[in-house]
Amino acid sequence: MPTQKRAFLLLPFVVALVLSSRTERSHRTLETRTNMDDSLNFDTLAVRSGTARSDFNEHSEAIFLTSSFVFASAADAAVRFANSEDNFTYSRFTNPTVSMFQDRLAALEGGEACMATASGMAAIMSVVMSTLQAGDHLVSSQALFGSTLGMFSQIFSKFGITTTFVDPTDLDAWQNAVRPETKMFFLETPSNPLTEVSDIAAISKIAKAANAVFVVDNCFCSPALQQPLKLGADVVMHSATKFLDGQGRVLGGALVGSKKFIMEKVFPFVRSAGPTLSAFNAWVLLKGMETLSLRVDKQSANALEIARWLETHPAVNRVFYPGLESHPQHALAMRQQKSGGAILSFELKGDTPEQMRANAWRVIDSTKICSITGNLGDTRTTITHPATTTHGRVTPEARAAAGISEGLIRLAVGLENAGDIRSDLERGLAS
Ligand SMILES: *Cc1c(COP(=O)(O)O)cnc(C)c1O
Repeated sequence: MPTQKRAFLLLPFVVALVLSSRTERSHRTLETRTNMDDSLNFDTLAVRSGTARSDFNEHSEAIFLTSSFVFASAADAAVRFANSEDNFTYSRFTNPTVSMFQDRLAALEGGEACMATASGMAAIMSVVMSTLQAGDHLVSSQALFGSTLGMFSQIFSKFGITTTFVDPTDLDAWQNAVRPETKMFFLETPSNPLTEVSDIAAISKIAKAANAVFVVDNCFCSPALQQPLKLGADVVMHSATKFLDGQGRVLGGALVGSKKFIMEKVFPFVRSAGPTLSAFNAWVLLKGMETLSLRVDKQSANALEIARWLETHPAVNRVFYPGLESHPQHALAMRQQKSGGAILSFELKGDTPEQMRANAWRVIDSTKICSITGNLGDTRTTITHPATTTHGRVTPEARAAAGISEGLIRLAVGLENAGDIRSDLERGLAS
């Protein structure tokens, strides 16, 4: 048969294929397996949940680097824009890779829905701006990540949202701070850098009675160690930059909560304001979450070993680590968390603040393995001097009141051999 005739015979198939792919594909979102059995265990969900496949049936999740999506017709575009939360129209609203990240994190936190954001701070901005308005009042832990403290005390106050800061471990302080206009409670536990542990279930009861949305920043534990929604929190906030990525590569954030809260409050805000997570970062985070519990369990075991050793060291005044029996909220921490976590701090001896600072800086500068950096939750151990870095902008009086002395060092323990990290610290401690 002549070549031309053969090609002609194929033509109907080609036309049918093009037509079918045009109608079929354009009406199809990704095949999804996100409604996974709730009885599956955390480790299975970390690897399997949220995965959705395109028509190519790729095994590993695809990165959809596209700002927008095309429609089969004007009518199709109209339908999809009207239901933008369930469709892919524009990546400021929704994106397939970001959706997979959201579904996986929702599964790990035991929440109905998740909204991803560009960073942890974007998540805090989104939860506050989507929920509160001028005249509303917030009750927050005083032991906060520095930028969160800045947002509450300097940014939101400009828009008429006021904050009362309380000692996070004092239940009466939470109760006494409630006013008729209180609409939100905000908590970090364990706190940074002193690892104070607050009772999520008890604070959630006070928040419920006050009709306030209870937000818990779960960065320090990650869902591998603590699931605040199961203890009564309404919303879990994440800096995905920390343990979820776990390898210090990308910025990201998220809010997890009920479908009603996330879709009716948070989604319309993020969709319009645009603090959206990029598809590339979502993909990096999806891969990070697959090894989350392996990493966090090992990093916590390393942290416990180092904390026990530091506690017996003659150059060390005190060690702050929830996994130690000497920690004031040890029993609560062991109830609320799977382990003490990967972050600890310790205070060096010294007769004066100047001497304590000199000792702390000497230990930090003598390390050859630990990275001198403010990030945490990384596979690599990081070491910081809170008084002159993360808490450097806090007044000396406020720092002293919070118990952050010049001799304090924070260690976010990584995956290196714990003995090697001990030797790295011992060099400065012994000199
Ligand atoms: C890092 C961090 C944040 C902010 O997250 P970014 O991703 O840096 O914006 C908020 N809370 C805690 C406890 C953090 O450690």
